[in-house]
Amino acid sequence: MNYKQIGDVGQNCAIGDLSKFGLGIAFPLSDNFPFDFIIIAGNKLFRAQVKSSSQHINGGVYFGIKSNSFYSGETKAYSEEDVDVVICYDLRDHKTYILVHKDIKGQKAFTIRFTPTKNNQTKNCHWHEKYILSKERVKEVFDFDVPVFEDFFGEMNRLATQYPHVCEECGKDFINGSKNSKCCGAKCSKKSQRKVERPAKEELQHLIEITSWVQIGKKYGVSDNTIRKWAKGYGILGKGHGRGYWAKLHANKLPAPTLSSTILETEKTIF
Ligand SMILES: [Zn+2]
Repeated sequence: MNYKQIGDVGQNCAIGDLSKFGLGIAFPLSDNFPFDFIIIAGNKLFRAQVKSSSQHINGGVYFGIKSNSFYSGETKAYSEEDVDVVICYDLRDHKTYILVHKDIKGQKAFTIRFTPTKNNQTKNCHWHEKYILSKERVKEVFDFDVPVFEDFFGEMNRLATQYPHVCEECGKDFINGSKNSKCCGAKCSKKSQRKVERPAKEELQHLIEITSWVQIGKKYGVSDNTIRKWAKGYGILGKGHGRGYWAKLHANKLPAPTLSSTILETEKTIF
């Protein structure tokens, strides 16, 4: 990875972190500005420069916070004319910090400390708690109240119109946002779709007399065994209609069955 790519990782991670706090991001249509992007905090805009670092030394993380002039090669500290905030992204610990000019005080480097210095010096010591991206820090720097995301979808569901239903399959009461729900869930919905309209007893009896279980099954989109179960349920399982009956019939070894009723117009199609 090169320097520019590392910088992009830091910038993108910082943007992700800022987004988690409800802050908006806008990019300028040019590389010529002394800031990387604009932070949108409610109705206020802040020019932001990102600095990435993985340099952990002596209990702190070191950030270089100077701008390099492309033309002169000169470096200078950020001034209030250039940027409003400097966002520091720690590439090792994946933490985002916000610095304002009051913190930077014209310096070209900034070390954010986690542990005290060797001589326990606390003056000019930059403790990480003060700068780390948090609700409090966002309020302090941007005067912006971080929105609460946790309840958003629950609240949307609560506000959406709900309709009461009775499940066609299991009979349970249920409510949801759809007007025409028939089943309480995927399980019942699958069951109800599988259900096939059974023929009336007379119709089934008639079909059994004139054709095979397999053929009747095909007509209703079920197996021949399902047709046998239906016939059993109606008490009309044909005597002698066991295995081989139809094969024998079609080989003309059995007398043709007597038709109990005339063939319905629609049934003619299956023979
Ligand atoms: Zn159900």
